[in-house]
Amino acid sequence: MNTWGRSRGGLAEIIAVGSELLTPFKTDTNSLFLTAGLNELGIAVERKSLVGDDPAVLRDAVQGALRRVNLVLLSGGLGPTDDDVTRETVAALLERPLREDPALVAALAARFTARGWRMPENNRRQACVPEGAEVLENQHGTAPGLWLEQGGRVVLLLPGPPRELEPMFTNVVRKRLESRVGGGRLYRRVLKVVGRGESHVAEATQPIYDRWRQSEPKVETTILASPGLVELHLSVWSEAPATATNVLDAATAELSAALGEDLLSTDGRSLAEVVGQRLVDAGLRVGLAESCTGGLATSRLVDIPGCSRYLAGAVVAYSNDAKQRVLGVDAAMLAEHGAVSEPVAAAMAEGVRHVVAADVGLGVTGVAGPDGGSEAKPVGTVCLAVAGPGDEVSTRIYRWPGDRAMVRRMATRAVLGLLRRRLLARRG
Ligand code: AMP
Ligand code: MG
Repeated sequence: MNTWGRSRGGLAEIIAVGSELLTPFKTDTNSLFLTAGLNELGIAVERKSLVGDDPAVLRDAVQGALRRVNLVLLSGGLGPTDDDVTRETVAALLERPLREDPALVAALAARFTARGWRMPENNRRQACVPEGAEVLENQHGTAPGLWLEQGGRVVLLLPGPPRELEPMFTNVVRKRLESRVGGGRLYRRVLKVVGRGESHVAEATQPIYDRWRQSEPKVETTILASPGLVELHLSVWSEAPATATNVLDAATAELSAALGEDLLSTDGRSLAEVVGQRLVDAGLRVGLAESCTGGLATSRLVDIPGCSRYLAGAVVAYSNDAKQRVLGVDAAMLAEHGAVSEPVAAAMAEGVRHVVAADVGLGVTGVAGPDGGSEAKPVGTVCLAVAGPGDEVSTRIYRWPGDRAMVRRMATRAVLGLLRRRLLARRG
């Protein structure tokens, strides 16, 4: 049974506390982590705030949140120093006197002793507990978390450092919240789509998920686009895991049919992971010759553990000279077509395939900018090639908008995408 009534598992607000979060130098990531965890429990986040370590502003934020929702999570401001004011401010607002907990003092002192240090007097503040609060153990730091209840509402104080907050939420807070919201949960599926823009993905899929939105239980869909990649997030709130899985399977199957080969994965796997797995399955090894991407595509493959099974090696050949000496690209070809051309991309792919003894070679050459563009080959022009397995060589030329970083990112995605298509065609 859902004891909090309002929206499925309930409604929450998150307040991230810390003056550093109001500068241009620090991003609040805790609220993203907490939102993901809460959503899984079916708890929707209705509002987030960022406040500095300022008692008056903080008090106001907590007071407002308590008027609106039944769960308020605060992160940060539990440190030992005077500028951390969350504990004191919330205790004062809820009219709960703070008392030093001898067991907590002893535990804190023991943490310091174990490292051969004396506990600074300051740290005693972290052993102060508002009346009626439950202490949540912090296994990775000195600031314990605090769980407070007032008039059926829960106020949670969590430490600021993500490496302390995350395990505390996962190991302690989650279970307690779970028993509040009953057996329901949010089940998610992430579909990744490559080679199709956001509006084309929406056009092909909207009629399908419009229908699933009316089903019982209903499937909610969010579409997230980044350059070269579109993600469809499906979620189902259900008390029965089997029901949720069935509904998600069925919706995924329909969407897969509509997206065809543009559907990269339905289990959150990245392009590099998918390509790696396909290479393993095909028993093929790849080599890369990268110019404007400077090793980025290789790096994506190396991000995946176990890539030695399919990555033979790579060459970053930036100058024409290096393209000739290392990869054996013909000087006359460079002179005739220019370094950024499909024949040169193909020769680079063939060259690296030979140099590192791979079955498949990839070539990337382009104008990342901001300088170096011409009328015929403006900034953003990138030529890609896949050579092999066997005699087949395919090349593509693209022209992307955006800055240097964006062009390099797009080229990286596109060359791995080209390899993926090549492997798909070979299988089919
Ligand atoms: P505090 O508990 O306020 O002493 O926070 C300690 C440290 O945790 C800060 O210096 C930040 O580096 C980090 N931190 C605090 N709040 C956040 C947040 N919302 N997101 C990510 N990191 C945070
Ligand atoms: Mg702080």
